[in-house]
Amino acid sequence: MPIVHKMQVVIAGCGPSGLFAATACAKAGLSTLIIAPTPRKRWEQRLCTWEDEWPDSYRQCLGRRWLRPRIVLADGTSRRLDRTYAQIDNDRLQDALWANFQDSGGIVLDAQAQECCHDELGTSLATTAGNVRTKILIDATGSAQALLPDSRPATQFQTAVGAVVSRTDGSPVDPVATFMDFRPADSAYEDDDLPSFLYTLPLDTHRLFIEETVLTSYDPKPHETLSQRLKKRIAASGFRVLPNEPGEHCVIAMDADIPTDSRVIGFGVAGGMVHPASGFSVARSAAASERLAKALCDAQDLSADTAVARAGLAIWDEDQKRRWALFGFGRDILSKLDTRQTQRFFEAFFQLDDDDIADWLSDRMNSRRLAGCMLSVFRRASNDIRTILVLSALRQPAVLMRGLMSYSPVRKNSTQHREAA
Ligand SMILES: Cc1cc2nc3c(=O)[nH]c(=O)nc-3n(C[C@H](O)[C@H](O)[C@H](O)COP(=O)(O)OP(=O)(O)OC[C@H]3O[C@@H](n4cnc5c(N)ncnc54)[C@H](O)[C@@H]3O)c2cc1C
Repeated sequence: MPIVHKMQVVIAGCGPSGLFAATACAKAGLSTLIIAPTPRKRWEQRLCTWEDEWPDSYRQCLGRRWLRPRIVLADGTSRRLDRTYAQIDNDRLQDALWANFQDSGGIVLDAQAQECCHDELGTSLATTAGNVRTKILIDATGSAQALLPDSRPATQFQTAVGAVVSRTDGSPVDPVATFMDFRPADSAYEDDDLPSFLYTLPLDTHRLFIEETVLTSYDPKPHETLSQRLKKRIAASGFRVLPNEPGEHCVIAMDADIPTDSRVIGFGVAGGMVHPASGFSVARSAAASERLAKALCDAQDLSADTAVARAGLAIWDEDQKRRWALFGFGRDILSKLDTRQTQRFFEAFFQLDDDDIADWLSDRMNSRRLAGCMLSVFRRASNDIRTILVLSALRQPAVLMRGLMSYSPVRKNSTQHREAA
């Protein structure tokens, strides 16, 4: 097939991460093309962020805000987090990103990225609309990781089922959002191995978004089971589901690797940027897209290999990799806990200071401080949780050590180019 475009940067995937990266690259003056099968398809997932994590340049794309969301532990004690949680207005954000992208000369291609091969000067990408030639190729195809063929499939998942409800008696809903409520939907679930919690967002005076979530587990949990739990909660709390409001079925791959051995830059979910402790990635992609674009711009006169390496360092500095290893150690343990153990783990976690909780959830502490906070959770945890933590550390010392010590993976394939077609 003939080459239909010759670019400096090509991004596969038009989800939030791909569109943030493409817009930042185009605004930085790089000739940029974004490609997806249905690029302008509206994002349907209900996206939220902590307001203080969100970039100022897209602040107008935040919708409803919830001040000081609540945490409720299994024994009913509660605490408010001293932060503001916000809904991302997907349509407004998409429109703003597309406008910035196209005003900066970005090009969009309605096609599927198929396969790529690399040479010293760049990459040739085969797509369903013809071949594209680029110096830099970015995979932002979410959990498909379509252009990162050596990636390991995810093994841990966040699962959630949500619905929009109102009170059967027509009274107003509680205006405070609940980030996590560990009281089980029914006492029958107290001793099982499906540690789901409740998450609620009041949408207005009478409508509440209510979701049953398993933070992380090996294999996605059955939506049907979570749905049954949610129905019990809804009935027991005097709510009814609003039939014309969209519900939500959510699976998030929690443990994609950071790609370290590829000439393709992984970004967003595809690039292992999902926070292992929360499943969030959109604000992180937004922030990293600026660093990515600057690194690529600064490396315009350097080889493709060096530019990719510089971009990798801009997205992931060494301390961030150590933090990801530490968070991953915690996520591996959480994925194995049953309901009671999960409740006890979070009893210890939510004894941390407000700042520590905020910085943990938003990845704003360095690895040294994170290790210190993990030690504080360990000290505050019940004996059974401490035993699980110690046994996990003994079983997987390498994982923990990677988080605590210097971490420098080798880029295996950087010199193994195939000739471009
Ligand atoms: C229901 C739900 C709720 C979530 N809520 C939040 C939240 O509140 N906050 C948060 O931060 N995160 C949330 N997440 C997690 C995550 O941040 C989002 O899923 C986000 O959409 C990930 O962005 P992404 O761009 O990395 O990947 P995706 O959104 O998955 O986008 C991937 C893109 O790649 C395209 N693509 C796939 N294959 C190819 C190919 N071969 N060629 C070209 N294009 C391709 C797809 O069409 C799509 O455009 C949620 C996830 C789900 C499922």
